[in-house]
Amino acid sequence: MPLRSDWSARTCSLARGLDVLGDPWGSLVLREIFFGNGRFDAIKQRLEVADNVLSKRLAWLVESGLLVQRPYRDGTRTRQEYVLTPKGEDALPVLNAIIIWAEKHLDAPNEVSHMRVIHTECGQATSSADTCTHCGIALTAANTSWHSYKRSDQPLPLAVAPRESHASALETEIPA
Ligand SMILES: [Zn+2]
Repeated sequence: MPLRSDWSARTCSLARGLDVLGDPWGSLVLREIFFGNGRFDAIKQRLEVADNVLSKRLAWLVESGLLVQRPYRDGTRTRQEYVLTPKGEDALPVLNAIIIWAEKHLDAPNEVSHMRVIHTECGQATSSADTCTHCGIALTAANTSWHSYKRSDQPLPLAVAPRESHASALETEIPA
């Protein structure tokens, strides 16, 4: 279900992009998925968001093709978690750009409110959304970390879209 009036047929690609990526809660859900936090209750706890708000964003991101559900074992039950698709992984530079712009132009309420985009291989913060400004390497989810000061002392490597099939992912999580 779209979050607002449908912009998907607008002639401007910025408007069509914002139709998918322009919702604050939706982008924060993507942040959690990039942090590898794909389980409903864990996302809810981190975002301090109501069930219906989160459910609507997750459903929208699945419908838009940025996330898929993947089964995992929770004790004897099989439950669903959310992981990126390649289309969702491709949203990384958009989120990076928002983080970098906010760090440059918006006041942070306190010291732990900062977040940096880090090229994992050289360990340096970048001021470009898609390239390491320290060593010039193109950034991907596989070589990028986010350092949320609130979240951890160290930059955290980001999740990538899983390459394995859903069935094999489930099998590997069932204890022998
Ligand atoms: Zn670098």
